[in-house]
Amino acid sequence: MELKLLVLAALFLTAIASEAAQFFSSKPCRRSQSSHRKNDSRFDYFLFVQQWPGSYCDTKKGCCFPESGEPGPAFGIHGLWPNRNDGTYPRKCENVQFNPNELEEVMDNMHKSWGTLSCNSRSNEDFWKHEWSKHGTCSGLTQGRYFQASLELYNRFDIAGALRDAGILPDDQHYSIVSIASALTNILGHSPQIVCNQDPRGNLQLHEVRFCVAKDASTLIECPVRSSCRGLMVQFPLYGGVPSRHTVSTLSQTSHAVGTDDTSESEL
Ligand code: AMP
Repeated sequence: MELKLLVLAALFLTAIASEAAQFFSSKPCRRSQSSHRKNDSRFDYFLFVQQWPGSYCDTKKGCCFPESGEPGPAFGIHGLWPNRNDGTYPRKCENVQFNPNELEEVMDNMHKSWGTLSCNSRSNEDFWKHEWSKHGTCSGLTQGRYFQASLELYNRFDIAGALRDAGILPDDQHYSIVSIASALTNILGHSPQIVCNQDPRGNLQLHEVRFCVAKDASTLIECPVRSSCRGLMVQFPLYGGVPSRHTVSTLSQTSHAVGTDDTSESEL
């Protein structure tokens, strides 16, 4: 009987010791959970983002043209971003280095449609590398497929053409958000998201057009989150043709380019 009691007491003490050990070792356990969340690459859909160079340039921080030359008067690709329905998005997922050699076949198209405007680096490759490492590595696509899918989406829809057909021109005039959205819905079959920024005088201007794409990186879908610029009317800035005083073509001409590109643009 005494022996039984001794065995039971020993078992009880072992159980308590193991609980205590777990309690004191709980910190590393929590850390690994949170780092798992940080690298959580789950997403629900893609946002395909294009921007109007005239609006990128006409800001306090200004712009610089890439070494590959001044982009034409067309919307340019900003990125293909995995997004979640709750408004969050994964970033920097897989550790796959950007390799420009994989883009050889589409290099001309890449330079034409996906040019940097940043004054931090005038290299398009730096921009693509940033987009790949922040967004592309979470897409579940290979690098080749990620960029190819983006180019295909870009070439399928002529955003500036659709606006022009609706009488909406980059002529510094103001246009209603409703008319812009409706012109784009006509070609996309779904409503776009419209993102505005502000020029140095505080005017709202049409900056980005974003549309939502299923996880196959090809089928357009209705955006789970409706989002639009907060104004009723926005300016569509001049760009191309006559040189604009808001654009510069070399880093040595960046007198208007104050601030840094790290300043994230607020979406208005
Ligand atoms: P993201 O983090 O995907 O929003 O990309 C924005 C970053 O890419 C900024 O930090 C910019 O420095 C850089 N970048 C380079 N060119 C452009 C561009 N044409 N439009 C937006 N961002 C650009």
